Order: sequence, then structure tokens, then C-alpha cells
Amino acid sequence: MKNYDNIRREVLETSHWLVENGYLGRLSSGGNISARVPGKEIVAITPSGIPYFSLKENDICVIDLNINSIEGSLSPSIEAPMHVGVYQHRSDVNAVIHTHQPFANTLSIINKPIPALFEEVIVEIGHEVDIIPYAYSGSSDLVANVNSKLGNLCHCYLIQNHGTLCLGTDAKQAMKNSELLEHVAQIYCQALATGEQIQTLPQSAIAHFKEMRQLRLK
Ligand code: 13P
Ligand code: ZN
Repeated sequence: MKNYDNIRREVLETSHWLVENGYLGRLSSGGNISARVPGKEIVAITPSGIPYFSLKENDICVIDLNINSIEGSLSPSIEAPMHVGVYQHRSDVNAVIHTHQPFANTLSIINKPIPALFEEVIVEIGHEVDIIPYAYSGSSDLVANVNSKLGNLCHCYLIQNHGTLCLGTDAKQAMKNSELLEHVAQIYCQALATGEQIQTLPQSAIAHFKEMRQLRLK
């Protein structure tokens, strides 16, 4: 029995759910998932370049916040610095999911943040799904671009010409946020395709549901 079996299993089960539901490819390895051991500077993260379909619990890497290996023989995701950056900037976050999911990624290539369209999205994700400017995958510039956006305390972001970043207090919440993001992104893409004017929620409703979110975050 190893020390970090539970957190590795959480990352593996999250990866499998994301594969089964079309958020990650079955045969490709795009995207990466991590979870932090609550209260500790230890993170379990998917390995780099291994197809998700064949991933096993022992393949999940356990690292510290300097990306030193604690358990596991594979190399951690090239986006490990991005995941670690999130944990360093957001004490409310214990799980990070990065995917290339199709509807959200459609908005990332037309550079369209998702405005406040639905009540539950404001409460669960935040008042806006902002765009993180493009930088090479795995680069320190991408880490800096991500870190510069985390201050809005939202739980989902779009990475320009690349994919998504969804956060949660645990893996289950991050997964629910990935699902909710794809749902609202699909509706927003469909609405944009009509060419009609998009109605956002009234300002009073945005303020009300932002307040509800604040209470939940406390
Ligand atoms: P890894 O296989 O190294 O996690 O990279 C996949 C990816 O999505 C890079 O942005
Ligand atoms: Zn990626």
C-alpha cells in the first residue's frame, strides 16, 4: 500500500470519466488532470503523453510544488507548472482539469469570453469565463498568463487557441464545472451561429447571483 493511493485513484477516476464523456480523447493524450492532497503541498497529476484509455493508477505521478517526483516512474504532464501555479495562487482549489473539449475550444479560437448567461453558471463557475492569452503549451509564459487571470476567483477559463482550465474544491467539483462549461459553451456557440443579439442576464440578477456565489465560497 503506497502513501498516495487515494489521490492517485481520484485523478484516475476523473480522467476515465472525462474520456468516457468525450472531454478527453480515448487514444490521444491531450489534456491533463491533477488533484492536491488537501492542506499539503503534494499533487497527483496525469503523466505526459500517455493515452488516457490505457492509464493505470500507478501511472499517475505524485509531485511536490517544485515538480519534484515523490511517487511514480513516468514524467508528469508538461503542464505541471500551470497546475502548480493554480494551487499556489488559489487556496480554494484542490483539483485542476485541462481539456481540449470541443464547444469551449470553439470559443477559444474566436476569442469570445462567455458572459453571464445563466444563473447557475454564475453561482458554480463565476460571472464570466475569461480568455487566457495564448502562449506555447508547457511554457513559463503560459503559466504567467494563467496566473494573471486567477484573481477573478472564477472556476473556469478558456485558453486561447488551446483549450480549457476548470478548477474545483475537489476533483468531483472540477469535473462538474467542466461539464457545465461545455454545456454553456455549446448553447453560446449555437446562439452566436443564429446571428441574433445575445441577451445576457440583467445587471440586478448578475449582482444577486454573484452575491450567492460569494456566500458559497466562504
Ligand atoms: P501532456 O500529455 O504533457 O499532459 O500534455 C497535453 C496537453 O494538453 C498540453 O497542453
Ligand atoms: Zn493542452
